Amino acid sequence: MTSVQTGPAPTGALAGVPVLQLAAVRAGYGRIDVLHGIDLELHQGEVFALLGPNGAGKSTTLAVASGQITPSSGGLLLCGRDVTGVAADALARAGVCLIPEGRGIFPNLTVAENLRMATYTGHSYHDVLDLAFAQFPRLGERRKQTAGTMSGGEQQMLSMARALATEPAVLLIDELSMGLAPIIVEELYEHVRRIAASGLSILIVEQFAHEILGLADRAGIMLHGRLLHTGPPASIAGELSDAYLGADHGAPGATSSPT
Ligand code: ATP
Repeated sequence: MTSVQTGPAPTGALAGVPVLQLAAVRAGYGRIDVLHGIDLELHQGEVFALLGPNGAGKSTTLAVASGQITPSSGGLLLCGRDVTGVAADALARAGVCLIPEGRGIFPNLTVAENLRMATYTGHSYHDVLDLAFAQFPRLGERRKQTAGTMSGGEQQMLSMARALATEPAVLLIDELSMGLAPIIVEELYEHVRRIAASGLSILIVEQFAHEILGLADRAGIMLHGRLLHTGPPASIAGELSDAYLGADHGAPGATSSPT
C-alpha cells in the first residue's frame, strides 16, 4: 500500500508552496479527456471557489485532486511532492478529504454510526464524537437519529463533521449548497468560514453560488474542461453571468490570470 509523507518539511521549505496543485492536468473517463489542461493552486488556509455550469468538469477536478482519477497527463502535487497516481485512500490518510456531491453519508445509519466511519484514520470513536458535537452541537442532539431522516442541511453538517473528524489538511467540497434553501446554505458557509480560519485549505465547487464569492479568497470559472478565469472574487463576479449565459470563453482572446 502506498503511503504519502506530508509530515513537517524543513523550516521555510514550504513557504509559498501550494498545499495542493494541479499542473497542466488532462483527465477524464476511459480514453476521453474532459479536463483539458487545468492549472490550479490551493494555498495554506485558503478558500478557493471553483464555479461553473453543469458538465464543466468541476467534479472531475475534485476527483483528480482526491486521487480518484489519475491524470492522463500533467500532475498532482501535495505540499510540493508529486503524488500523481497515488491512490485515493493513501491521499485521504495524507490529509486530503473529499465531501462528495450528495454528501456521501449512510442514510440508514444513525448520526453516531456515520461518525464512526471517521475512525479509519486512527482517531478514537470517543474523540471523533467529541470533536463533531463540539463543532456542530445540533448533531449531538441528534446522535441517535437515522441520518436519512434529518434535514438536508443537517445531513450536510454530518458530512462536514465526519470529514473534519479525520483532521484533514485539505478539504474538497462538491456542491455544498445543492438542494438547500439559501438560509441553510448561509449557515453552512459560516461553518466553512470558521473551518478555513482554523488553517484548513478548502477547494469548494459550486454551480450557481454568487454567495460563495463572499467567503472565498480566490475563485475560478470553469467551462468545457478549462479553467478560464481565476482571481480575487471581485474580479470573478463580473465574469460569472457571461459564463452562465453561454458566452464563448473558449474563443481566442479569452482572459486567464495565473492561479
Ligand atoms: P455538475 O455540476 O453537473 O456535476 P461538473 O462541472 O461537476 O458538473 P463533471 O461532473 O466533472 O462536471 O463532468 C464533466 C464531463 O464529464 C461531463 O461531460 C460529464 O458528462 C462527464 N462525466 C462525468 N462523470 C463521468 C463518468 N463517470 N463517465 C463518463 N463521463 C463522465
